[in-house]
Amino acid sequence: MQTWFKLKPTFKEMIWGGSRLKTEFGYDIPSDQTGEAWIISAHPQGESVVENGDAANVPLSQLYKMIRPYFGPGKNDEFPIMVKIIDANKDLSVQVHPDDEYAREIEDSLGKSESWYVLDCAPDTRMVMGHHARNSEEFNAHLLSGNYDTLFRNLTVNKGDCFDVSAGTIHAICEGTLVYEAQENSNVTYRVYDYDRVDAKGNKRELHIRKAMEVTKSPCKPDPIKSEPIVVGKNRVTFLVENEYFQMRKYEVRDQITLELSDVFMIISVIEGEGRINKNPIRKGDNFIALPNEKTLTVQGEVTLLIVEPKAEKMM
Ligand code: ZN
Repeated sequence: MQTWFKLKPTFKEMIWGGSRLKTEFGYDIPSDQTGEAWIISAHPQGESVVENGDAANVPLSQLYKMIRPYFGPGKNDEFPIMVKIIDANKDLSVQVHPDDEYAREIEDSLGKSESWYVLDCAPDTRMVMGHHARNSEEFNAHLLSGNYDTLFRNLTVNKGDCFDVSAGTIHAICEGTLVYEAQENSNVTYRVYDYDRVDAKGNKRELHIRKAMEVTKSPCKPDPIKSEPIVVGKNRVTFLVENEYFQMRKYEVRDQITLELSDVFMIISVIEGEGRINKNPIRKGDNFIALPNEKTLTVQGEVTLLIVEPKAEKMM
């Protein structure tokens, strides 16, 4: 049975999007305002599709249902994770996402906790991460009176920074940032502030102030995650994020490294270089799913991978 799947992304055009998904990753994007590549997605609003082997052309949600036990323990047949690459050619709206409990009740959806790895950014690039209010009353008051500059907390970001953006965290990716984002399989976003931008027809995008006030955590001032790489010969492994939904690691391979799969599938994204995993050629921009039956992955070459592994508890 097939245990190694190459996935083909889908793309989302956005008013803030650009063309770096093509120039950096070689993706066949629909326009020079493409904001997101949904590189691993089983979401009904845009699915990735298998490119290789017997399962070629099968959408990910269908593959997951067809061979569910091979992906790991549990019976939940809804694919648990979504992974995107985001090209912020302009600032994204300031936004917040609900947690599972709120999203289930109000939106009939999973909530959205997400984690970011900054693939690239210009010097002195900003990001909104949390806010300065001491409690919800203060947050609501500042938001309703439009005191955005005093309310939103700006950080300077650097290439390689990593953030765990849990549900309820006010955030915005800003102009000049290329982000790898792992998240729950959800598309519920509450927009708080959109810089009064209008689209080609002169329309502003909808804001969701009341819901945002209901789900925003206070106080909330998350900083980048600090993690030191572990050196393995010429190679380096960095544990970036671990939350209740998934873990994310970075492998900077310079000659060869072997990793073992647990009893849960792995999402593997090539963010630099090229090489091989087992007998399969890999290069920058490629995204794969390896099933536990693959057992070990021998990575060779000069290549940097991000690997996302869902938590088995979330597959039950
Ligand atoms: Zn978000």
